[in-house]
Amino acid sequence: MTQHYDGNLAALEAHDRAMDAWLDSRPVCTCCQEPIQDEKCYETERGLMCEWCAKEYALDLAEEFVKDCMDDWRQDTERYIE
Ligand SMILES: [Zn+2]
Repeated sequence: MTQHYDGNLAALEAHDRAMDAWLDSRPVCTCCQEPIQDEKCYETERGLMCEWCAKEYALDLAEEFVKDCMDDWRQDTERYIE
């Protein structure tokens, strides 16, 4: 009984070690510092990112871009009414 349990535990530990080794071999997201477990990642100006962080980053960039465009647009269209 105990033997059986130990066997399972050993297998579990081996599995954990294999999992750790696999995680160690994965690139780390520069944003959340977690190993990227998906098959794909995103190479950004800030380094490799996991999908989730890349989305957040893209939204940030988009927001900044829109803000810049809005500022330009406002400056170009701004008229004073006398
Ligand atoms: Zn991330």
